[in-house]
Order: sequence, then C-alpha cells, then structure tokens
Amino acid sequence: MSEVRERIGRHLQVLVREIGARPPGSPANRQATAYVEQILTTAGHRPVAAPFTTRWWEPGDGHLEVGDVRIGVEPNPYSPAGDVRGRAVVLRRLDQLEALATAAGDVLVLTDELASGQLLPAAFPFLDLPEHRRTRDALHRLAPAAVVAVSDHWEPILEDPDLPFPSTTIPTELGVDLHPGDDLHLVVSGAVHPGDGVNLSARIGDGDRRLVLCAHLDSKVTTPGAFDNAASVAVLLALTELGHLDGLPVELVLFNGEDHIDACGEVAWLAATDLDQVAGACNLDGIGLAGRRTSLAALACPEPVASELAAWVARHDGWVAAEPWIESDHAIFAMRGIPAVAITTEDVHALLGGLAHTADDTLEVLDRDLLARIAADLPSLLTLLATSLTTAAVNHHDG
Ligand SMILES: [Zn+2]
Repeated sequence: MSEVRERIGRHLQVLVREIGARPPGSPANRQATAYVEQILTTAGHRPVAAPFTTRWWEPGDGHLEVGDVRIGVEPNPYSPAGDVRGRAVVLRRLDQLEALATAAGDVLVLTDELASGQLLPAAFPFLDLPEHRRTRDALHRLAPAAVVAVSDHWEPILEDPDLPFPSTTIPTELGVDLHPGDDLHLVVSGAVHPGDGVNLSARIGDGDRRLVLCAHLDSKVTTPGAFDNAASVAVLLALTELGHLDGLPVELVLFNGEDHIDACGEVAWLAATDLDQVAGACNLDGIGLAGRRTSLAALACPEPVASELAAWVARHDGWVAAEPWIESDHAIFAMRGIPAVAITTEDVHALLGGLAHTADDTLEVLDRDLLARIAADLPSLLTLLATSLTTAAVNHHDG
C-alpha cells in the first residue's frame, strides 16, 4: 500500500504542482502527455499516441462599465479580446432572441432561460440540442458588439471559440444593475491559440477483445485539476508501473479532451479504434476527495453484470452505488451500448459548483490514503468486470 501511495503522490506532484493547468493544445498539456508516455514506456509498455489539432485559450481578464460604475469581470473562455461599447438589449428567452431583427452595435444581456446553463459549443462532437443550435444560430446572425450573460450557473454560459464577439458571464447580484438601453462598455483580454497534442493508450493484457480502463489527463485552463482529474491518472499510472494490471485484458486509455470543447483526444481515439473489440469500459473521473466515499455507477450493463457489480460494491468498504450519469468518458461507450462503469466521488454533482474547474482544485483536497485504497480495490473490480462480461457474452450467444 505504501509503495502505491508513494507513486501516486509522485505523479500528482508532477501533474498538479509542476505542470498545473493542462488544456489540450497547450505547451503544458504536451508536457503532461510526455510525462505519461515516459512512465508507461519505463513500465515496459508501448504507448500509442493518436495525434490531434485543436484550439486552446490563454485566459485574460476584463471589466464592465455601466455608466460610471466599473466592475471586474472574467471573460468567457475563448472570448475574443475586445474593447467595445454598446446599448444593452436584455433578453430572457430564445423566442425573444430569435425575434430580434438586428443587434449590430448592441450588447446583448442574456438572462433567465437564455443563461440557465452552458450553451453547447458547435465544436462539441457528442451532443447537440435543438434549442442550443437555434441560440447559436441567432447569435451568429445578430453578430452583436458583445454578450453579457447573467447567471449563477457554475460554468460560464458561453465557451465557444466559433462565436466572434467578446463575452463575459456575471452573477445575478451584479446583473440586476443592467437595464435595457444602458450604455455598456466591456473590455476583455485573452487569446485563442491553435495547438496540437496526443491521446495516449497502451495495451496491458493479451487478446483482441478488451476492457478500456480510462481517465482524462487534460484539465480546464482555469485549474490545476487535482481531483479533476490528475488523481485518477496517478492511480492508473501507479497500478501500471507496479504490474498490478498485468494479466488483465485491459487497454489503458488516458483521454486528452474530456474537459475540452471539442473532445479532441476522444475523437482521435475513436477514429483509430474498432469498438467491436471493446467488451466494456471503466472510467475514473473525480476520485480521492478527502472525507468522501467512492461511487460506482453501471451503465448499459446486462443484468448479471449489473448485479455482480452491485454485490462487489456492497463487499468493499468506502464504496457506494450511484445512479448512472451521462457525462465524462464512460458516456462515449454507454451511448453506443457498450457496458461501462463510472467511478467518481459520492455526490459528485454537488461538488461541481465550487471545486471542479476552479483554482481550488489542488492537492490539498485529495486524500492519498483513499487513493491508495481505490488503487488496491481496482484489480479485483476489473477482474470481476472482465469475467462477468465474458460470461454474459457467451450466454448471449448460446441463447
Ligand atoms: Zn473530469
């Protein structure tokens, strides 16, 4: 246990302290993948790198002037830099946005329904929703001078490199001071850069059919990403180095894009992979938070497999069953009908507002003893998953 704990600590030190924020496309991200590749190679494996190109955002800062009141604001990620003035047009609903004939020279202030959650960027490959597409289309057509979203949602409302105007998200306590017709002056900095990177995978056991054991190694640009998701990467690297996955029919995949607008690493890996040979997936995202249990959710699992997973959870201290959740990298398997297990922290969604993607997601929030216990439990979970999926497949073919 102390050996695995010590190795987990060393990987965390490099990924979180020495490298820090590592969005795909950035130099820091390339440092992170070089480190992971070197660890896997030293452990005797031959990592495969699937290359991609993407865009990353170098954050800036900003302010908003309303009359003679000036407030500090954070630009939305990927906002073009700008220094613009315009008349406030306050909009609450999509039909109001679509009904506008023009917004040239105006600053659109999006509130209520239009700012209740993050607008899916056009570049995101796995999901689009009609209202989101209509909202983007209207914003492109109107081409306002700027957009100010007023929202208490935990993420910025816009994070889309294809929107051509400067934008920010401000909390409702400041947004109540904005009124239709106000003269607004928004100044934001920051820069969007092209960049490239790789997604890394390595085969551990033999055989064509395999389990994908995965975690994303990228982070948002706004966070050192300890809990989300260096902790999972550190656990998987330590297990691999110590040979604790040897003999398991596993492909280790360190995805590089889960927290990125275009899921660049996931797309590169999917393009290079025959999913018919993937029996199942186990994804780790957001583990090891001090004082919390670890949760396991089973998605798209045939019944005997789901029951055996539930029994495994009941037998292991510190684990708890969770309802399926469709986010993170297990979703790309489950949505294609491939059995998937999602491992995270109990009540993870309640933590998203204050910790994930923020500067507070540092090594101090993690419990290394807990991470070592998760690492100690994983080989038995993966053995159970591989065995029960094989049995289920055989029974399926016999029946
Ligand atoms: Zn994550």
